[in-house]
Amino acid sequence: MVEDLLDELRRSGQRATTARRAVLEVLVAAGDGHLSADELTRRVRADHPAIHLSTIYRTLEALAEAGLLTPAPFADQPTTYHLRADVHHHAVCTDCGATINLPPSVLASLRRSLLADHGFHADPHHLTITGRCRSCSGA
Ligand SMILES: [Zn+2]
Ligand SMILES: [Zn+2]
Repeated sequence: MVEDLLDELRRSGQRATTARRAVLEVLVAAGDGHLSADELTRRVRADHPAIHLSTIYRTLEALAEAGLLTPAPFADQPTTYHLRADVHHHAVCTDCGATINLPPSVLASLRRSLLADHGFHADPHHLTITGRCRSCSGA
């Protein structure tokens, strides 16, 4: 998995540095979790104590540019990152900040009608739908 990602990185003309490999390893290990730059740094440093936060930030930028990562901003929280190959969406409560992870299939009918009605090929990788959760809406 990490080797495939590093191949993709090389194909996009970027070098597979130690920091890039370490960040990808942490993200793959995190599964569908979302990690902030701080949290990524903490985990990377467990194996590579010499890698600094500024290096991690540059690494995240380079990996996002190469199309391997998706930055996922959530309301007022720090930006988190996850692998682009991990397609999913979120419903986020604007009152309490609760988030629900949604599979790509929730958008199947929306994608079908965008194509049928507008000839538009939607390709959402990480969509956030805002609203109110069950407990905040009092239902
Ligand atoms: Zn997400
Ligand atoms: Zn809520």
